[in-house]
Amino acid sequence: MTAETTSDNRLAQLRARAQARQAARTAAREAYEAQRAGGSRRRRSLDELRAIAARGQAELHGAGFPGAAPDATAEATAEQVVAWAVREFGPGLAVASSMQDTVLAHLVSQQLPWVDVLFGDTGYHFAETLGTRGAVELDLDVHVVDVKPRLSVEQQDAAHGKDLFARDPEACCAMRKVAPMHDALQGYEAWATGLRRGESASRATAPLVTFDEKNGVVKINPLAGWSDDQVADYVRQHGLIVNPLLSEGYPSIGCEPCTRRVEAGADSRSGRWAGLDKTECGLHV
Ligand code: SF4
Repeated sequence: MTAETTSDNRLAQLRARAQARQAARTAAREAYEAQRAGGSRRRRSLDELRAIAARGQAELHGAGFPGAAPDATAEATAEQVVAWAVREFGPGLAVASSMQDTVLAHLVSQQLPWVDVLFGDTGYHFAETLGTRGAVELDLDVHVVDVKPRLSVEQQDAAHGKDLFARDPEACCAMRKVAPMHDALQGYEAWATGLRRGESASRATAPLVTFDEKNGVVKINPLAGWSDDQVADYVRQHGLIVNPLLSEGYPSIGCEPCTRRVEAGADSRSGRWAGLDKTECGLHV
């Protein structure tokens, strides 16, 4: 057998494996969607969801969760938080991802395969972020949902003037991130986010579970207590995709016009809206 034939055979095997995996993905995803569509449970009222969030806070802190030490400051592990969320909400749970890393999407997909991963597709992302989004869809057992603003960048430029982000980033974030995510979340009862207390002062008190009054859903932050090292360890352990910009001086990655490289050792979010009195896009405040 020639080297060329061997290479052709190898290519054919890889193609066949990729096709089989794609067929399995499609079938699994269709089954998940049928489960969502056929679910007889109505979306619970805001008061019911508030009560579930309060119960979660009691169960996931202190001595409430299995294996907990009798210590008021103890809290459940990320896996225990996800298990609680999957039990409470099933396919009514979505994951939000900025495509910076894929830790949370992977963690939730281990217990809820084909979970919807909501990606705020603002129209202003780095090519690396869009590449990461594409790779996640191929690599993980999740369904990526592009959450798009009502106006394209061109329509926004025509209606509000070019480069609104440079003149009024609050208005730009409100239109391109906050409002579209609010609309998308109305199809769920809960969302999981990758918020971590160590990321910035404004996130230092992030709870594991809370009721998100602005969006009318339960908000779950399984990684709230994780350090940068824990995230890196999880990525290594599971061989996960990460946004390549993370190793190029961007420890926190948002839209391209509003994200700068930061000096080694600086606050990881200091490159976001650098030089402006703005630290959050509004999704988490
Ligand atoms: S981060 Fe910048 S470009 Fe992205 S939505 Fe906000 S203001 Fe607009």
